[in-house]
Amino acid sequence: MQHAYLSPSAADRWMACHASVGMCKKIKADDDGSAYANEGSAYANEGSKAHILAARCLIKHCDATSAGGDFPDDMREYVQQYLEYVWKLRTSGHFKMLVERRIIYSAELWGTADCILINDEELVIIDFKYGQGLIVEAHENKQMLCYAMCALREFEQVWDFKTIRFIIFQPRREHISEAFYTPEDIHIFAQQVKTALDAIKSDNPQFSPSVETCRFCKASGVCKPQAEKALSGYTAEEPNLITPEQIGIILPKLGQITSWIKSIKERALKTAINGIRIPGFKLVEGRGRSQWAHHAEAELEKHPRAEDLFERKLIGITAAKKILGGKNEIFEQLTTKSDAAPALVPEDDKRHELNGVSAALNEFYN
Ligand code: SF4
Repeated sequence: MQHAYLSPSAADRWMACHASVGMCKKIKADDDGSAYANEGSAYANEGSKAHILAARCLIKHCDATSAGGDFPDDMREYVQQYLEYVWKLRTSGHFKMLVERRIIYSAELWGTADCILINDEELVIIDFKYGQGLIVEAHENKQMLCYAMCALREFEQVWDFKTIRFIIFQPRREHISEAFYTPEDIHIFAQQVKTALDAIKSDNPQFSPSVETCRFCKASGVCKPQAEKALSGYTAEEPNLITPEQIGIILPKLGQITSWIKSIKERALKTAINGIRIPGFKLVEGRGRSQWAHHAEAELEKHPRAEDLFERKLIGITAAKKILGGKNEIFEQLTTKSDAAPALVPEDDKRHELNGVSAALNEFYN
């Protein structure tokens, strides 16, 4: 698949870390050893399949539940929810609809929007997220802002939009997020993109490593500034005793260090699989894990000891609240709360400080 020089889906990365564009180009497309590469590609394949089904049904105006093709039942149901949402919105605003439309801002920045709805007043950009990991919000979503830049450039000569609406539809998280912007807001964002592009193309683009920025970067695990950021900032003043002050320096860095460790482990494995020796390490066969074959459940249901082989479990409290309603008295009568252990959180956390525990700790250290 052809990718834009500045991909909207990676805007969070390249707007923060200008050097990442050049770094990603240095990493061959088939050598993405970043910590999330394998995980990411499996999810991407599933997401692509769901998007194909959704686009096909929107264009043909048919139900996902009965459309032809090899799609799992649960995918059909989630896509059907998306279709019904789009159809209802389209009808309510008498919108013209564009599906999987390539929208172009410049030779460097373009993308493909899942669904665009247009009427005299409003431009609506809908992004169908099939993932069930992180919840994605529409507000200040840089991918959506890039799409809006592209769509405005294409359509604002003809249409006089008052509002630009972003919608993220994420059915597997039961999540719909909306944000409203004006064309002026999008033009201001376009200026920020232009500034970033100048920096990216400059002789000395800056690195800006962080857990979020590096997460999906192809250079993650081989990027020196990322490693330096993860490992820097701690100096032992007192050789044998780590002081509370030093712990305060280390704790906020743990996320960065953990993420970097994951990246470097994945990168090392991929490098070794590609035939390059990592000094002091060798490639061996891993330990396989036994798992039930896909027909096991149906077969074992007929087994004489089937009752012992299957378990019936109460679902979690959050899921039960969705079914019975959160205010149901059942939850007062039939739930208990375990004693909450003290947790150490950054000072700007909204929870009240446990003064007793702080005092005890002070006593311990002093
Ligand atoms: S790994 Fe992080 S710091 Fe390095 S280029 Fe990528 S985003 Fe930038």
